[in-house]
Amino acid sequence: MASLDDLPLRADLRGQSPYGAPQKHVRVQLNVNENSHPIPEAVARDIVESLAGAVLTLNRYPDREFTALRESLAAYLGQGLGSEQIWAANGSNEIIQQLLQAFGGPGRSVLAFPPTYSMHGIITRGTGTTWLTAERDADYALSADTVVAAIEQHRPDLVFLCAPNNPTGTPVALDVIEAAYEASTGMVFVDEAYAEFMPSGTPTAVSLLPDRHRLVVSRTMSKAFAFAGARVGYLAADPAVIDALRLVRLPYHLSALTQAAAVAALRHAPEMLAMVDDIRGQRDRLLAELPVLGFRAYDSWANFVLFDRVADPHATFEALLERDIIIRDVGLPNSLRVTAGTEQETTLFLDALAELGAASPTTLGS
Ligand code: PMP
Repeated sequence: MASLDDLPLRADLRGQSPYGAPQKHVRVQLNVNENSHPIPEAVARDIVESLAGAVLTLNRYPDREFTALRESLAAYLGQGLGSEQIWAANGSNEIIQQLLQAFGGPGRSVLAFPPTYSMHGIITRGTGTTWLTAERDADYALSADTVVAAIEQHRPDLVFLCAPNNPTGTPVALDVIEAAYEASTGMVFVDEAYAEFMPSGTPTAVSLLPDRHRLVVSRTMSKAFAFAGARVGYLAADPAVIDALRLVRLPYHLSALTQAAAVAALRHAPEMLAMVDDIRGQRDRLLAELPVLGFRAYDSWANFVLFDRVADPHATFEALLERDIIIRDVGLPNSLRVTAGTEQETTLFLDALAELGAASPTTLGS
C-alpha cells in the first residue's frame, strides 16, 4: 500500500491530522456530546412514515432549495425569521465548509480563540484558508476587549466564535459578539451548536441578526434535538449570505430522505427536546460532583463539562474505557471532557471516576 507521501497531495495538507474522535462501541458513550436519549417511539414512527413517502419519489432529485425544511427551521427558531434567512446542510460541519468556500479560501483568514471546536481549524485549512488564533482570558473566558484587540491586530476575513464554546462549555456574552461585529469588516460566524442547553430564555446571537448582514449563526439538530445520525445542521443569516452559499453548495446536497426526516422531526420539536432539562440537570450534577472528587470543573452552558486537575488524563481515559465508559481527551493539560448523559450514565461515570481516584494529589483540596 502507498502512503500519503507517495501521493501528489496538496502541500498545505501534508502533516495535518484528520478529525479523530474515537468511535468505539462501549456501553456508556460520553465522548462526542450526543444526546444519550433515543428518539421517542411515537416520533420515530412518524419519521418512518415520512421517509416511506419520500422513498416513492427517490427516482427524482430532491427539492434543491429544501423549502419545506427551511420553513420548518424558521418556525422552530422563531424571532420573526423567514425561510429566506435559513440554510441547511449535512451537519453544521458542512455549513461551516460552505461558509468558508464562499468567504474564505486561499489568501483569506479565519481568526479563532482556541481551545475551540477542532473542526473549525480542520475545515478552515481544508478550504485553503489561513487559521489565525488569539489567546482567551483566564479560565477560557472571552471578553469583548480581548476579541476586539485580536481583530484589530489580525484583521481577519472571518471571525469564529463558538457560543457556548466546545470543549470548555464557556458562554459568550452578546456584547462580545456585538463588539466583534463592530470591530471587523469581515464575516462574523457564531457556532451555536449547543444553544438549547443554555439557561432557558437566554438571548442568543440569532437576536442580533437584524441589520447585521455579515453575521452568521449556525445551529445543529445533532445535539439537543437527538438527531446526530441524520446529519442536519443549519444557519440563520441575511438572505444575501444564503445567495453566497448557493454559489458553492453542490446541487441537491440534502437528500430527499434527510429533508423528509428532518421536517418530520421538527413537527415534534417539543418531544424531541423533552430531555434537554434532564441533560442540563446531569450537567449541573457533574459541575457539583467533580469538585468533590478533587477536580476543577469549568462552568458550562452546554451538554458537557471540561474538568482539569486530572493527574494523568490518558491513563484515566484508558481506565474508564476498561470500565466500558468513553469520554474525551481533548488534549488540554491535565484535562478531560465528559458529555452529560442519562442519569444512569452520569452515575456510572462519576462512580468509576471516584473509584479510580484520578485527581492530581498535589492539588487535591486546593
Ligand atoms: N459545532 C460544534 C461546536 C460542535 O461541537 C459540533 C459537533 N461536535 C459541530 C459544530 C458539528 O456538528 P454537526 O456536524 O453534527 O452538526
